[in-house]
Amino acid sequence: MFFREYCEFIEALYIIYYSKMNDYEKNINYRKIRKSYEEFGKINNDFEEIYDEITTGAVYNLKESDLTFLRRYNGLLLSISRLLNLKIKLHYLDNCTFVKKMYSVELIDDKYHCLQCDNSNQNLFFSFENNSLKTTYCRRCIDFGRSDDNFIKFHINIPVSKIEAPKKPNVRLSDVQEIASERLVENTEKNLSTLVWAVCGAGKTEIVYEVIYQAILENKTICLAIPRRDVVKELSERFYRDFSGYPISVLHGEEKVLEESNFYIMTTHQLVKYYNYFDIVIIDEVDAFPYSGDECLENGAKTSLKNNGVIVFLSATPSNKIKASVDEVIKIPIRYHRYLLPVPKIKIEKTEVFDFTKRCKFIEKFIKERLARDRRILIFVPEIGMCETAVLYLKRSFSDNILIDFVYSEDENRSEKIKEFYNRKIDVLVTTTILERGVTFDYLDVIIFDTKHINFTKSALIQISGRVGRKDYDNSGDIVFLSDKISREMKAAIKEIEYMNNLAKYRKLNRR
Ligand SMILES: [Zn+2]
Repeated sequence: MFFREYCEFIEALYIIYYSKMNDYEKNINYRKIRKSYEEFGKINNDFEEIYDEITTGAVYNLKESDLTFLRRYNGLLLSISRLLNLKIKLHYLDNCTFVKKMYSVELIDDKYHCLQCDNSNQNLFFSFENNSLKTTYCRRCIDFGRSDDNFIKFHINIPVSKIEAPKKPNVRLSDVQEIASERLVENTEKNLSTLVWAVCGAGKTEIVYEVIYQAILENKTICLAIPRRDVVKELSERFYRDFSGYPISVLHGEEKVLEESNFYIMTTHQLVKYYNYFDIVIIDEVDAFPYSGDECLENGAKTSLKNNGVIVFLSATPSNKIKASVDEVIKIPIRYHRYLLPVPKIKIEKTEVFDFTKRCKFIEKFIKERLARDRRILIFVPEIGMCETAVLYLKRSFSDNILIDFVYSEDENRSEKIKEFYNRKIDVLVTTTILERGVTFDYLDVIIFDTKHINFTKSALIQISGRVGRKDYDNSGDIVFLSDKISREMKAAIKEIEYMNNLAKYRKLNRR
């Protein structure tokens, strides 16, 4: 099935071979390519072999080892050049019933539809002509590889032989998690889409273990997708450990580990490249950048599902759109340790504080008091440009004994600084919203500086507040919204946190 040495004449042959031309036109073009190849003068045995094979119409069948190789590309829409990168002789796939050839832009009732990103907005389709042959492609998902109506894509779906199931993962669920987990299994079996709306610190990852485990037992294909790459890495390590011995395909921008497996963990970005393949797709942090608000990613996730596939969303701060899109919302209003969420307090200061022209006694006192009690402080600022100024501003008020630093997304020493803060080598860390989720520090208090700023959305504020009091032994702390005005988002964030606390109290879930 493989060739050894790529040359562009091989690609040219296959483009003609899989084009919409009739046999007569194809033969003319084959001869043209052959002539160019001969003029080029460098012998390539693979080209000559492939030329003879496709012009004589020889028929091939794949071997078991070929299927094993191809199986890891299951579910992807592979272009001619992508397969040639794998050094596959494409015409070997012609007789394989598990390989479907298709165009990823289809025309239905005079309207274009993109299979890659589910786009049907006609304004986002563009056409070009080459040798009087018109190609129409989808602009919306162009970053994921061109999806068009003229160049064939190969969709591979070779049944995965039953892999030995892992031992049931050993995770202990609280009774609240247990109920949610059971409900989720029921819903996916009934093909009902579900949103698990769980407060920060509720342990939402544990809740999907059972669904994933059941899917593996039933030989279903399942994908856990997350917008952020570092979370993919983190979660994959966790699942490697807890589903010990079971192969897992893990895909993100920097690395792609494709196994012969039914269980995938990937970024939502990678998920767009899959088509009609998964029985269950779980999207964690569905409200997070870059997934949320990106139609291409949002709809691309849907096309990765089989027709009767089912979707599960997980979030601490779901949008109304997500809430409305599912069959059921399961709310988990209490944290794993069963203490209520700390509620932010608003502190109004003069506008000059926020352009650093006036000292802020409140911040000074706040920091001193907390450090005296051996706690640590995160100060969130709305823009990267404010980090350094804020640190200088704070350093004016404190001696060198107090260690103050800042971190932001493009910071080269980002992970080291976070580690230092974790190991208490930094007392006060000024940060942008990059630390709004995914981090846990005990004995933490938080100030959100200039909270009314447009970058502090309701969900960002809830996520930031969710960093505080995450441990059983340190289950509370202070969150201060420091601002010169009260924004709608500030009010809405506090309201939602109080709503979840009241719901927990109403259901008698909290410790007293
Ligand atoms: Zn598209």
